[in-house]
Amino acid sequence: MGVLAVFGVKNAATRIYYGLHNLQHRGQEGGGISTFDEDGKYYRYRGLGLLSEIFTNGEISHLKGSLGIGSVKYANDSKGGLDNVEPLFFHHRSGDFAVAADGNVINAAQIAGYLEKRGTIFQTNIHSELLAHLIKKNAGEDRIVNIVKALNMMEGGFAFVIMTPSRIYACRDKHGIKPLCLGELDGGYVVSSESCAFDIMGAKFLRDVNPGEIVSLDRHGIRSTTYSHYSRHHMCAMEYIYFARPDSDIDGCNVHTYRKEAGRRLARECPVEADIVVGVPESGLSAAMGYSEESGIPYEMGLVKHKYVGRTFIEPTQSMRELGVKMKLSPVQSIVRGKRIVLVDDSIVRGTTSLKIVKLLRDAGAAEVHVRIASPMMRFPCHYGVDTSTLEELLCSHRSLQEACAAIGADSLGYLSPESTRDSCFGCADPCQACFTGEYPTLLYDDVNNED
Ligand code: AMP
Ligand code: SF4
Repeated sequence: MGVLAVFGVKNAATRIYYGLHNLQHRGQEGGGISTFDEDGKYYRYRGLGLLSEIFTNGEISHLKGSLGIGSVKYANDSKGGLDNVEPLFFHHRSGDFAVAADGNVINAAQIAGYLEKRGTIFQTNIHSELLAHLIKKNAGEDRIVNIVKALNMMEGGFAFVIMTPSRIYACRDKHGIKPLCLGELDGGYVVSSESCAFDIMGAKFLRDVNPGEIVSLDRHGIRSTTYSHYSRHHMCAMEYIYFARPDSDIDGCNVHTYRKEAGRRLARECPVEADIVVGVPESGLSAAMGYSEESGIPYEMGLVKHKYVGRTFIEPTQSMRELGVKMKLSPVQSIVRGKRIVLVDDSIVRGTTSLKIVKLLRDAGAAEVHVRIASPMMRFPCHYGVDTSTLEELLCSHRSLQEACAAIGADSLGYLSPESTRDSCFGCADPCQACFTGEYPTLLYDDVNNED
């Protein structure tokens, strides 16, 4: 999921629309924008699909006002259709407000149980609604106090943007798992899941929102509140490895630079004799460059990506996904024929992509295909909102390295170590790597029933 907020900028909705396009890689299932105008009137437009499919008839021009929030929705919570597309809007006698979120609240079931016992009825199953109810449970106190209390009841990896008629609040989880950053735009402000949205909006990067911080944006400017003194910094390693765009800087570390460094380390940890290095487009390319530079094996474009085909991962069934891989990539026969290839990709989740690409390259005449992955073996599910698949589906949850290699049909297979995954990141000393190591940075609430 991707979130965006703008404060104090004319035609905020148009700016948000452009910014959301640069966050489209964070979610292709749906999206929406909401604004308040100068009179406190609320506007919203949401839809299912890509932004270009949602905003087709000049809807943006109807969203008036100089502050707004927007979101793109990820495949992991496809239940609920349009009702679950954010921003969500809430009426309350103390003032209307809207909320959009990235990530996952892992004690959501406990919080929902707690609220339901006190009479709350939910309209959706998304966590922005939980936050809204928690905030209003204490209504009467100062709003920032209510938000602080609400966030302190939530555990997980999340980024929330909250909009009232006169203010934006941007909140980042106390573990720093989800990214969120702050920029300046035409005398106003912008908040985004990733800094790559700033360029297209014409905004200037100011800083990251800190773990456990609430940034408020209003006519007084920027104000900061720390909602939890237990703040840690466990930025999601998969954001650097796969999820984020290479032109984003997250917590002081550029994503492309991270991937290239991971590729260099991969070349040192898993060397192999070969003729060319080929990266899997798009997210494997930076690591392939690093592998090539470090190993001295020339980098070649052995695979070409077709434009205008969606990401394979979001196709709902396995057979659709398999077809999707074929539609997405073509081998360049004259380059790969007779060659010993180091095939570099960012990660293996189910193994569908690797199996198909190894076969594509062999069918195109490759002599050998050695797969090198610029992250560790993914063995555990993510509880923080990244759809890394269920435990049974993960290629490596129940396979050794040799078995995984055989399953994807490669001549050899090598993964980056967790140490190098951590050390490739110069912005965060201790990123979350739970899907590789099983060491989750937060409590897991599966068996806990703390209702009161
Ligand atoms: P798979 O075919 O399931 O092994 O998918 C692995 C490919 O999907 C890798 O090449 C990644 O680029 C990409 N990928 C990794 N993690 C995710 C994710 N959480 N959502 C979508 N795609 C992913
Ligand atoms: Fe990211 Fe993996 Fe941690 Fe989930 S478990 S937050 S995907 S590093």
